[in-house]
Amino acid sequence: MSEKSFLTKVVHAGEDTTKHEGALSVPIYNASTFAFTDADEGRAIHNYEKPGYFYGRLGNPTQEALENAVAELENGESGIAFASGMAAISAAVLSLIKTGEHIVALSSMYSTSSMLFQQISEDLRIFVTFIDATDSENYKNAIRPETRMFWVETPSNPGLNITDISAVTDIAKENKITTVADNTFATPFNQNPLDLGTDLVIHSATKYLGGHSDLTAGVLIGKSTELVDRVYKKGVKLLGGGIAPQVAWLVLRGIKTLALRMKQDNENAYAIANMLQSHPKVKEVFYPGLETHENHEIAKKQMRGFGGMVSFDVGGIEEGKRLINNTKLCSIATSLGGVETILQHSASMTHSTLSKEEREKAGISDGLIRLSVGIEDKKDLIRDLEQALEKV
Ligand SMILES: *Cc1c(COP(=O)(O)O)cnc(C)c1O
Repeated sequence: MSEKSFLTKVVHAGEDTTKHEGALSVPIYNASTFAFTDADEGRAIHNYEKPGYFYGRLGNPTQEALENAVAELENGESGIAFASGMAAISAAVLSLIKTGEHIVALSSMYSTSSMLFQQISEDLRIFVTFIDATDSENYKNAIRPETRMFWVETPSNPGLNITDISAVTDIAKENKITTVADNTFATPFNQNPLDLGTDLVIHSATKYLGGHSDLTAGVLIGKSTELVDRVYKKGVKLLGGGIAPQVAWLVLRGIKTLALRMKQDNENAYAIANMLQSHPKVKEVFYPGLETHENHEIAKKQMRGFGGMVSFDVGGIEEGKRLINNTKLCSIATSLGGVETILQHSASMTHSTLSKEEREKAGISDGLIRLSVGIEDKKDLIRDLEQALEKV
């Protein structure tokens, strides 16, 4: 089959008009339980010998449509939808890694993922080495006989650091290590980690896949169904973090405009990053699309576009607060990936409980602003940021 354009794929992903009476919008199946025709069918479906549904926690047709849609967009064999990005992340880690085994992860990454890794090393003795992932050799140097997983997040949250996915997965394959990529920032519009060699890709669907700041969800997609089934049997069945059908439907609807939104986000963010780079009040800009980004060449190699997230440094805590307090169009909010532009000042908001030293270790300088660029007109966004920068 010839490869369809991504613009076409997102509109039809997961669609199967032989099901659901041909409904073009997959119905929301609210059922928490499904009846069998007889005992033998009940046994066959429970034992996964026959396809079907039996209990809400374990799957539902609306959820399955979403899983098929994202699997198609990420070029994976199958996937699982979860109640949040963290439900997907914790299910992947706790299903695939045992006590005594070892994970290599980034020292600067989504803060709750970091906290999860720290917590499991304290509570479950799953060992984690945190590395600077901008150099793929650091993954290799951290390998121990018990290493089972490489965790990748590129571009990373909030520093927009880039990891060379192919280089890391080459090292992983030589050492029989499973690689998982958090592709939340890039989205499948800009980057497909499975095509670059990872075994699993996860998303916080709360962000770009949903795209409208109106839901919390996560997805996990695998190159092989065998690996996804391992996560399903423990991470979904036992840990119970599956998505609700109403939310699955909202994510499906969001995905239909993913390509349009990302096109606009890529364009807006690139323009804003360039404006910030030449602004006297801005010390440094972190955007993988800028030639000055330390791993711009790697970003160019593995991404089709550079995404809607831009970070920049305005100096110190007070400057950071003044900037966000003076924007009018851009809202002060955590989260990202919605149609509206939001920004946060990490040192005084999300990371305010950490010491300056701890913040620096996590890649958060005092003046760091994280901007999630929306789909508004870039001229309006630039004007708003410029007038706020005047007041810094
Ligand atoms: C938000 C986010 C998560 C967590 O997702 P939730 O839906 O909030 O649980 C994981 N990774 C990254 C990169 C994120 O931005």
